[in-house]
Amino acid sequence: MKVEQVINNLKGRFPNEPEYHQAVEEVLHSIEEVYNEHPEFEKQNLIERICIPERIFTFRVTWVDDKGNVKTNMAYRVQHNNAIGPYKGGMRFHASVCPSVLKFLAFEQTFKNALTTLPMGGAKGGSDFSPKGKSNEEIMRFCQAFMLELWHHIGPETDVPAGDIGVGGREVAYMYGMYKKLARENTGTFTGKGLGFGGSLIRPEATGYGNIYFLMNMLKYKGITDLKGQVVAISGSGNVATYTAEKVIELGGKVVTLSDSSGYIYDADGIDSEKLAYIFELKNLYRGRIKEYADKYGCKYVEGGRPWSEKCTIALPSATQNELNGDDAEMLMNNGCIAVSEGANMPSTPEAVEIFLKHKILYGPGKAANAGGVSVSGLEMTQNSIKLSWTKEEVDEKLKSIMNSIHASCAEYGTEKDGFVNYVKGANIAGFMKVAKAMIAQGVL
Ligand code: NDP
Repeated sequence: MKVEQVINNLKGRFPNEPEYHQAVEEVLHSIEEVYNEHPEFEKQNLIERICIPERIFTFRVTWVDDKGNVKTNMAYRVQHNNAIGPYKGGMRFHASVCPSVLKFLAFEQTFKNALTTLPMGGAKGGSDFSPKGKSNEEIMRFCQAFMLELWHHIGPETDVPAGDIGVGGREVAYMYGMYKKLARENTGTFTGKGLGFGGSLIRPEATGYGNIYFLMNMLKYKGITDLKGQVVAISGSGNVATYTAEKVIELGGKVVTLSDSSGYIYDADGIDSEKLAYIFELKNLYRGRIKEYADKYGCKYVEGGRPWSEKCTIALPSATQNELNGDDAEMLMNNGCIAVSEGANMPSTPEAVEIFLKHKILYGPGKAANAGGVSVSGLEMTQNSIKLSWTKEEVDEKLKSIMNSIHASCAEYGTEKDGFVNYVKGANIAGFMKVAKAMIAQGVL
């Protein structure tokens, strides 16, 4: 396999899909050497089979807004690979959703899910519908219309969706309710459900907490065992960012930034638990903007900016893809940042990743560092199928142990001769080998 050749071929067959090309290229560069040591992979054209999604559903969603206008949105489900378990991956509702974004996310999800040790294949879906500024009723009508089509293609042993950007507990509940009505079964074909109807404790917290458990594993390699004295920059202020902040504060770190798509706040005194409680209220109850935090606490707010120019020792990008570029990475390095751990999927551009690796900082790529969310989703599926609920402590313990094991896999495949752990390489090879071996064992499909 020659990476350039494979990439050029994919670009020719699937033009205008830059995010998909970017995600594939990153993985292929990491696995090239290992892949070429296995002639059976090439013989079965595994590379194309593992890069191209098994199936993509594309459909129109028609719904009625509060003024009676009939609206249409495009919606998709990308079922990328089910070699090691049912398709699994979140739904994203955001104006930027398109096949390229969902193909990159489903591709990443396949390897991420393989790392979790749980039997889950990779998928992703969503719509260019934006919940921002919509009433509850509009969101409910959209979710129901969306499920009128999607329910045909999902099921507890087939494909189990969850949340992502723009899809939280409210949206999951509306979609799951409609799914149950149509499918006439109650087997938990959605994760991130409410606690009263099959959800798991710790699921909302899981991605953020998991990222910090992964970070602590990385820091341990440097002899650092807590977050006291660490100054932490976080982007985003949604599900992942807020629970990341909660765990950082609990472990003694000082969170100085959060953001949304309008700008970022910088609080030199640190966002403490009380201020974070305000953010939870602001975001979940009032669906407000992060600027309101600056207005309330009188701290700095930068309209349209990203937090990476602020001085920090740890950066945790937790908003969206390509939100941290080469210039941002240089600024972080110049300011003494020692670790970057990704809550979001592919938040760092290839240039930024190159800079992190050149400086040999602790860099945890999203597919390893943010795998805690899907891991607890896997645990939610298990609880649904055995019809039992585990306690908060039990789920949290399992989450910790999965994140430790993901870290160990990354270290096993990514440790270089001088002892530096290249987590990008480690995560990509560990995830790839598991999926590749399962595909080879199951024959040409
Ligand atoms: P939410 O919708 O809860 O929050 C997203 C946050 O990111 C919001 O603050 C949003 O601001 C901001 N944001 C979104 N798009 C942009 C943009 N283009 N530019 C700047 N800011 C933006 O989503 P999640 O917290 O669930 O997801 C965040 C990231 O984590 C995503 O990359 C997702 O794929 C990834 N992830 C999520 C998991 C989960 O369990 N939820 C699991 C693993 C990964 P605004 O409100 O202004 O749009």
